[in-house]
Amino acid sequence: MCGIFGITDNKDASRIGYVGLFTLQHRGQESAGIVTDDHGSLRHYAGMGLVNEVFNDDVLAQLDGRNAIGHIRYSTAGSSHIKNAQPLVLNSCLGVVAVAHNGNITNADALKAKLQKEGAIFQSSSDSEVILHLAARYRGRTLEDTLARNLPKLSGAYAFLFLAPGKVIGARDPYGYRPLVLGRLGKSYILASETCAIDVAGGKVLREIEPGEMVTISGGRLKSRRFAPAKKFTRCIFEQVYFARPDSVVAGRSVQTARYEIGAMLARELAGVKADLVSGVPDSGTVYALGYAKESGVPYQTVFMRNHYTGRSFIQPDQRLREFTAHLKLAPIRDVIKGKTIILIDDSLVRGTTSRKIVKNLKRAGAKKVIMAIASPAIISPCYFGIDTPTKAELIANRLSLDGIRRFIGADALHYLSLPSLVEACGGGRDRDFCVSCFTGKYTERI
Ligand code: SF4
Repeated sequence: MCGIFGITDNKDASRIGYVGLFTLQHRGQESAGIVTDDHGSLRHYAGMGLVNEVFNDDVLAQLDGRNAIGHIRYSTAGSSHIKNAQPLVLNSCLGVVAVAHNGNITNADALKAKLQKEGAIFQSSSDSEVILHLAARYRGRTLEDTLARNLPKLSGAYAFLFLAPGKVIGARDPYGYRPLVLGRLGKSYILASETCAIDVAGGKVLREIEPGEMVTISGGRLKSRRFAPAKKFTRCIFEQVYFARPDSVVAGRSVQTARYEIGAMLARELAGVKADLVSGVPDSGTVYALGYAKESGVPYQTVFMRNHYTGRSFIQPDQRLREFTAHLKLAPIRDVIKGKTIILIDDSLVRGTTSRKIVKNLKRAGAKKVIMAIASPAIISPCYFGIDTPTKAELIANRLSLDGIRRFIGADALHYLSLPSLVEACGGGRDRDFCVSCFTGKYTERI
């Protein structure tokens, strides 16, 4: 999961880029970078850490130019290292081009091996660099033609932003796994992973980029073309469940509304279950719990205080630190918990180790019973499309029965939301609008 943001034709391009990335910070905390087009020279700055740790006024002042693209990273392919921080910039026979990518290219290794045999030298271990090397080798008349020729060679998930002298290009894979939206701010166009970034930058959201669509913004004008026929729209449903900010709109529905509805769906599926209160694992769990409370009449209470100031040293993608983070971030409110039967809602259950700590925390604080309700179905298969899920063997739902998972996490009861309820709450109605592969083990492409 990563966040991308681009803006055109604006004298404050780097500063608005900063605002966009800052708003998308929830999508990745490892590195941040911005590239601007200063009269044909690309200015580049990237570093490890949060957006406000990487950039300051002096750095932004040096990023001159009226077009900019930016990226924040959470690594799924390639290690956590500055050389993988994006946007990547490549100087080749195409001229200088920068790329920012959200997603995961499933045939990157095979393409990379072929390109290396042909003499390509890769700067990073990130899969995103593959498209730049493909473009440098198999060229068309213009950069857009070159990309239109090469993007169909990629499999998997991608939302791309490219910056070249005089233009910004956005492209989305033919399934539309990863989000990319278009907005307007005065005479500027904005391309972003989520609508919240366009809103916060003061712009107006126009539409989603279609699957298989490429837009070029140059000289204040936007041109759209298809580089591949749109396949079945397959947006990642985890955007609504967990990734996207509640004030974003995904697939025409506000994330907050979808999560509230998911909570109500859980209440319908758990009708008749008695409890003293319902609560959520902060932050995303809170909205689910509010929806549950409204539908069921079970009162909502906050049972955990979340510490938002744990800093980036605690958000590294490493199992040991992940466990430590869960413990450090959530402090139980004993007075509310003591002697109560609690329905606790969390967005998902992946390895089970975080839920186990959370349930233990509630029990230690005096909870009588903990009924764990999960706002998504059991994850039985890994994601190959840019989300950092573990291997099949590490997924608890793949190893244990429902009762085995309940016992592992130490809950008195465990319930997963059904897939039809999830899809309906997210506004799909039919499961063909969304990717649900990690719940079903069935993939749209051969992996
Ligand atoms: S497999 Fe799961 S996490 Fe990955 S894109 Fe599909 S729904 Fe999203």
